[in-house]
Amino acid sequence: MTVNEYQKLVMKTLNPDLDKKDVLINGVMGLCGESGEAIDIVKKWLAQGHELDKEHLAKELGDIAWYLAETATALDLSLSDIFEANIEKLKKRYPEGFDSEKSVNRIEEDL
Ligand SMILES: [Mg+2]
Repeated sequence: MTVNEYQKLVMKTLNPDLDKKDVLINGVMGLCGESGEAIDIVKKWLAQGHELDKEHLAKELGDIAWYLAETATALDLSLSDIFEANIEKLKKRYPEGFDSEKSVNRIEEDL
C-alpha cells in the first residue's frame, strides 16, 4: 500500500459533516492528543515500572498516521507531498547524514 492509498482509505472514516477548517483543527488537535497517548506509554515504561507496551505504542502510531492524513487532506496535500518535502529538507540539512554541528547551527529558515 502506498501512503496516498492509505490516505484515501482512511479519509473514508472522516466525519463528512466537518468543514475544511474543522478538519484542519481536528487534525492538529488529534496529532497532539495521539502523541500524548504515545508519550504516556513511554512514561509508564520509563518512570512507573511497566513493560514497554510495543503493541499499544504501535496502535498509537497508527492513530497519529490517521490524524496526519487528515491534516494533510485539510491542506489539500497528499501524504507523499508531505513525505517528499520532508526528505528534501533533510537532504539539505544533513547531506552526509546526521551531524550534530548542523543540528545545532541551523539556518533560521530551516524549520
Ligand atoms: Mg489513540
